[in-house]
Amino acid sequence: MRYGLVGANGKMGVEIQSYFSSLGDLCVLRKDRGVLEEIERPQVIIDFSSPDAVFETVELCRKYSCGLVIGTTALTEEHFSRLKELSEHVPVVQSYNFSTGIAILKRIIKEYASYFEDWDAAMVEIHHNQKKDAPSGTAKMLKQALGREIPISSIRVGGIFGEHTLIFSNSGETVEITHRALSRRAFVIGVRNAALFVLGKEKGFFSYDDVLESAQ
Ligand code: NAD
Repeated sequence: MRYGLVGANGKMGVEIQSYFSSLGDLCVLRKDRGVLEEIERPQVIIDFSSPDAVFETVELCRKYSCGLVIGTTALTEEHFSRLKELSEHVPVVQSYNFSTGIAILKRIIKEYASYFEDWDAAMVEIHHNQKKDAPSGTAKMLKQALGREIPISSIRVGGIFGEHTLIFSNSGETVEITHRALSRRAFVIGVRNAALFVLGKEKGFFSYDDVLESAQ
């Protein structure tokens, strides 16, 4: 696969290049702050950067008529509407979390949320001290899966890749469900699945759930 990468010098960007190149993929467009290397037309562009890069990424996808996989968090309604406009022409996969474990956890929450209807619920999410947004995109996604407002505590400490704990409690008992990413590889494998998925689509707006469902 020939891919482009926005946020190429970042933590996710470096991990993506290391994993993709181990499988023979070629990075033919690299973009970061103040850097743009365009070597060849990419088949897909991957964006793990910051919200202020998104409009330029959309323009790059239009320029090359190629699909997009975007994992950048803290997107606004305006970003989503530009991504949806783009998806009328090319395939776009957007997710705040590309790990398979979080996709499974989301399904579990949707299926069993009603059992905890009368319980208090809260979430604690912990990430490395360089993460810019809080609460995390994943925490927002899990809250949406639960379908109700809950308090979310965000802790930024050390080098933690990403940890989310959902807590249900009543006066007599507590249930906790935790997902812990053990390395950035947990996300990057999903990013490559999504990039391959994009190559097989003409256009449309997709989530990582759609990517996983297509593999079943
Ligand atoms: P990082 O800060 O290490 O890397 C971001 C990179 O993007 C940096 O090199 C930065 O210079 C570059 N960048 C920022 N603005 C830019 C712009 N306007 N144009 C070009 N390049 C720009 O961060 P990270 O840990 O690699 O995370 C990147 C993004 O991915 C964050 O939004 C993070 O929350 C998100 N993320 C998502 C997932 C997921 O599964 N969806 C997983 C991990 C991280």
